[in-house]
Amino acid sequence: MGAMRRPLIAGNWKMNLDHLQSIAFVQKLGWALKDAKYVANDVDVALFPPIADLRSVQTLINADSLPFTFGAQDLSMFDDGAHTGDISGVFLKALECSYVIVGHSERRADHSENDAIVAAKAQAAIRNSVVPIICVGETAEDLETHGAAKIPVDQLRAVLEVLDAQDNYVVAYEPVWAIGSGQAATPDQANDVAAALRATIAAVHGSERAEATRILYGGSVKAANIASFMKRPDVDGALVGGASLDVAEFSSIIQFPKHVTLDS
Ligand code: PEP
Repeated sequence: MGAMRRPLIAGNWKMNLDHLQSIAFVQKLGWALKDAKYVANDVDVALFPPIADLRSVQTLINADSLPFTFGAQDLSMFDDGAHTGDISGVFLKALECSYVIVGHSERRADHSENDAIVAAKAQAAIRNSVVPIICVGETAEDLETHGAAKIPVDQLRAVLEVLDAQDNYVVAYEPVWAIGSGQAATPDQANDVAAALRATIAAVHGSERAEATRILYGGSVKAANIASFMKRPDVDGALVGGASLDVAEFSSIIQFPKHVTLDS
């Protein structure tokens, strides 16, 4: 965790929880943190509900002054027009989304999103003042053929080349083989790739941008392993899938500074 960079814990609910369930979940998470006397100074927490829940989550967070921001799991590369089913960055801005995930491996796989599409989506987010969380990561096959860093670095470079150095973005390194598998990367593996991604940012957008940019690790993060990732210098937070749907697990992940120990 870099000294200058504020950690970000992001919960990607994927296609889980309807709007009523999402209200109950966010309330319980707020209570769990209150019970634990959580102070929201040290960590940014962002929730990524399905689009159908966003208005409900926004209303609850605002009404109860909960210590969470929120964002969407995807957006259109276009701002308006004949794109049935797609969600404009203009709408996300109107909903006060802080972030939007772009290029998640499930969208790359299920919707054939290539680097050019991910880059256009990142541009659409920035055009609408929503911070993109740019997801990159290698498959098990890529890992075997190229090692860990090559594919994530290539994917990131393709996006950075269409952005400007002053644009605000977050990067998430998510090895595809680690997502939902229960088999996380080791903290050293995650840190090595995060360092390679930071070097790529430095090469394209300069060292100041690279030092300021948060790089998250994602892939089977849980309460039991978060501290070991957060101790690594180039890992600035986590993108959490399955464990973000469990109040006890996610509230414990958010409170990682309490369980960073010397041996983790
Ligand atoms: C994800 O979906 O981005 C993710 C990291 O999932 P999980 O934590 O379940 O591996």
